[in-house]
Amino acid sequence: MSTAPWQGIHVATALPFKTDLTIDLDAYAEHVQWLLAHGCHGVVPNGSLGEYQTLTVDERAAVVRTAVEASAGAGATELELVTPERTVSLDVGGIVASGYMTALAEAGVQISVLRRLRSIRRADGGSGALVVTLGVEGSDWTENRVVDAVVVEAGTQPVTDVYDELVPGSRNGGQIDLADLLARRPQTAVRNPDGTYQLFRIGDAVAGRNVHAAMLDAARLCREI
Ligand SMILES: Cc1cc2nc3c(=O)[nH]c(=O)nc-3n(C[C@H](O)[C@H](O)[C@H](O)COP(=O)(O)OP(=O)(O)OC[C@H]3O[C@@H](n4cnc5c(N)ncnc54)[C@H](O)[C@@H]3O)c2cc1C
Repeated sequence: MSTAPWQGIHVATALPFKTDLTIDLDAYAEHVQWLLAHGCHGVVPNGSLGEYQTLTVDERAAVVRTAVEASAGAGATELELVTPERTVSLDVGGIVASGYMTALAEAGVQISVLRRLRSIRRADGGSGALVVTLGVEGSDWTENRVVDAVVVEAGTQPVTDVYDELVPGSRNGGQIDLADLLARRPQTAVRNPDGTYQLFRIGDAVAGRNVHAAMLDAARLCREI
């Protein structure tokens, strides 16, 4: 069995909006079902085409809930919500959490906490089922589930290609001196005296976020140059 996670096609789903700029959850459900009906193995709601950054916690939850429900419509009859955290939806406040928990309980959703997705592979025999391996952080222990579909919310990956290539020729090796940053001094770190330029990791090279975060990263470093 391969240990590579996310085997198959997992689409970071586009999110349709209505003309009044509210989320069109019906169109989104239709889109998810279309993707699953046309050979995708999973969908990644909120995963991130930019609009995610502007959604409220409730809207993000609604997007995930719609994806899960739409997946159920595509064939699954039982749902399990798995999270590597100690609790479900850390961002959801205590007052509204009970509402979500009630809805999940009424829908018969099983909840597994402290489980991280390790891998997904096709089950033997050509049934189209998926074998999902779950683990626990810091442990080799695993357990498997056989499921029809997987919906993953996993954030975004940084884009570091250019940064990585430039590190060897830089004077600071990409290091940001936090004392300098906080004191609003020019950056002084030197890891490679032969380096010919300073290099800083900002924006989507740190994490996929938004234009505002990239500009703030740049402004904090550049205002002292
Ligand atoms: C579909 C989509 C929609 C989004 N919508 C929004 C939104 O509505 N609002 C929002 O705030 N954010 C949005 N984002 C996120 C936002 O675009 C990014 O977070 C932001 O652009 C990151 O800025 P950056 O300067 O770090 O990287 P980038 O904007 O990616 O800039 C990196 C630049 O480096 C260049 N480059 C790469 N390799 C080389 C090379 N070898 N040599 C020279 N140049 C190179 C690239 O061409 C690019 O111009 C969206 C992202 C996507 C993908």
